[in-house]
Amino acid sequence: ELDIAERTARLLGSSVKEQTVHAVDEVSLSVAKGEVLGLVGESGCGKSTLGRMVAGLMRPSDGEIRFRGRNIGTLKGAEARDAALKIQMVFQDPMSSLNPRLRVDEIVGEAPRVHGIVPRREVTAYVDDLLERVGLDPSTRRRYPHQFSGGQRARIGIARALAVKPDFIVCDESVAALDVSIQAQILNLFMRLREQFDLTYLFISHDLGVVEHISDRIAVMYLGRLVELGDAEVVFSRPNHPYTQALVEEIPTFETKKKVYGAIKGEIPSPLDPPPGCHFHPRCPHAFERCRIERPLLKEVAPGRLSACHLNDEASRRGAA
Ligand code: SF4
Ligand code: MG
Repeated sequence: ELDIAERTARLLGSSVKEQTVHAVDEVSLSVAKGEVLGLVGESGCGKSTLGRMVAGLMRPSDGEIRFRGRNIGTLKGAEARDAALKIQMVFQDPMSSLNPRLRVDEIVGEAPRVHGIVPRREVTAYVDDLLERVGLDPSTRRRYPHQFSGGQRARIGIARALAVKPDFIVCDESVAALDVSIQAQILNLFMRLREQFDLTYLFISHDLGVVEHISDRIAVMYLGRLVELGDAEVVFSRPNHPYTQALVEEIPTFETKKKVYGAIKGEIPSPLDPPPGCHFHPRCPHAFERCRIERPLLKEVAPGRLSACHLNDEASRRGAA
């Protein structure tokens, strides 16, 4: 359904002086219809940038995003509008992405009204139905975002995305701000909605535990590069890349949910000045000379399984000898 062939994406710094960072560097991914692709990595790895490009909120400076075989960057008029509606984004913090001055029925009903998704006189009933499907009482339709809990606001954000009848949803840290028990409820909701509405998801999270729960396949990014990709269960149970191995070891247990990522040794290097060779080498327990010099390419290590680590070459060389 979706192909990402991305060579360099520029992330413009918010400071007065523009900083050009290659937030995403030669990432190529496909998401099949009906699939949930989990995209994980620490903050600053470029996963949000990639998500924003998929949702059409940013353009790759080189490369393309293809949706149903068409490059969405080159679509015009009605086709561009249709693609923009078919790919929706559910954001991290519902409080800052919901307009505090609009009522829930206005938030959810605005886009269907503007885009004529349903006839005008049916919008109210349509909104009520959506609220119900995301687990909200339709009688709360005239309330404002601040009158809801965090979990309920997440549901409002989901209803808003669903309202334009999308096929593809980019979830960027959509449950990150929520308590663990609420996270589980919202993840279950996403899975139910996937069935009901025949949805495809790109599910972005810094938390491998969250992504593992709902993904068919998992893609792991580190400093703008894809380092591993494969079937979720396999990546999770037998991670190939040392970075993925570190992430898996770090998945907090239910009780210690709060602590994430402390155990991978070393700081995340600046994306402005990534280390040469393998970006992960300063933190990798298995780094050797070649890692400091040569960039490891993403290679198929098993059918449908990709990893970018020189250790795989060493292993196959030893195997061949
Ligand atoms: Fe570690 Fe080298 Fe593999 Fe990079 S290429 S992950 S530094 S072993
Ligand atoms: Mg992010």
